[in-house]
Amino acid sequence: MAYNVTLIPGDGIGPEVTEATRRVLEASGVVFNWDIVYAGADVQNQCGTPLPDYVLESVRKNRVALKGPVTTPVGSGFRSVNVALRQALDLYACVRPCKTYPGVPSPYKNVDIVVVRENTEDLYAGIEFEKGAPETARLAKLIAETKGTAVRPDSGLSLKVISETGSRRIVRFAFEYACAHRRKKVTAVHKANIMKFSDGLFLDTAREVAREYAGIEFEDKMVDNVTMQLVRRPEQFDVIVTPNLYGDIISDLCAGMVGGTGLAPGANLGDDIAVFEATHGSAPKYAGQNRVNPMAMMLSGVMMLRHLGETRDADRLENAIVGVIAEGRDVTYDLKPNATDAPPVGTSQVADAVIEKLTESNRLTV
Ligand code: NAD
Repeated sequence: MAYNVTLIPGDGIGPEVTEATRRVLEASGVVFNWDIVYAGADVQNQCGTPLPDYVLESVRKNRVALKGPVTTPVGSGFRSVNVALRQALDLYACVRPCKTYPGVPSPYKNVDIVVVRENTEDLYAGIEFEKGAPETARLAKLIAETKGTAVRPDSGLSLKVISETGSRRIVRFAFEYACAHRRKKVTAVHKANIMKFSDGLFLDTAREVAREYAGIEFEDKMVDNVTMQLVRRPEQFDVIVTPNLYGDIISDLCAGMVGGTGLAPGANLGDDIAVFEATHGSAPKYAGQNRVNPMAMMLSGVMMLRHLGETRDADRLENAIVGVIAEGRDVTYDLKPNATDAPPVGTSQVADAVIEKLTESNRLTV
């Protein structure tokens, strides 16, 4: 059986890491019909939008996509393609497993945490009021009248939007994930002592949902405490569920602990659509150099195989990647931090090495 999958190469290092991933996925033995569609800055110049409708239509039709990173200009230019895609397709759950593999240069040896990040609300809702705009002055007036708080006239405002509906479905998702993956504990991360009506609502809802899952331990912690605890005792965490912004930061922190963003995969999931992409961005300074680590993208591909029910081939591909990491020879610069290490290989050579391992495992199982 061949799977129809949308492939969005992205920009910056995206095309290189998605190409390396496409090659190893095909070598796993699973057959794909790739529908390759483009989004990002280059497309903006041609189509007037960085996220043309045909991209969304392809993902809606195929229900599964593999996506490379897309650059978001800071301050000006278009809004994030990534955020727009997640919102348009209602991909409300971002799942980012962070696990230390043997041979990875990291002081942390036994990290195995899954960050479940709410993907559509919070400060990413995109409701912003620009400094000096008439609607900003109107909002400031409303705030002064209703809250008695003066907002400085030269302020820009971004709304933090957290709903009970959004909180309920992400926390339920985290518990269902924990049950399905034999995880023991869910930690809800928030700052409810300060943001009582947004994070407070998230926390109250999380506590309510947790009562439905007696077999899974539940706790809540404040985000500042969690970042400190993560670097001191990561083994106390299992599944973390959290609003959008904290999830973004915490998943990068966890990625750093397991060897860097070059090894951190992810999935954006809705009720019936799944988009798989690495945690890292488009790293423009490395674009086109065949230098960066494609393993985060490849491990996102492993998640995609599991999502498609191809568990055996997912395990084989993950083992092949883990084998290449453990040998430490055919890996990129980020996995060779010491001056005494042999020279790193490039992105496409990592794909060659993973394919070689897959071929070896085929020979052993025949
Ligand atoms: P980044 O993740 O692109 O890069 C930060 C640093 O991490 C790089 O300089 C590099 O040292 C390292 N790195 C990243 N990917 C790597 C890899 N595969 N192998 C080895 N090292 C790697 O983060 P940034 O510089 O903050 O963001 C660059 C752009 O990417 C921004 O425009 C941002 O908005 C965008 N972005 C996109 C996504 C996405 O498409 N999902 C996610 C995050 C950031």
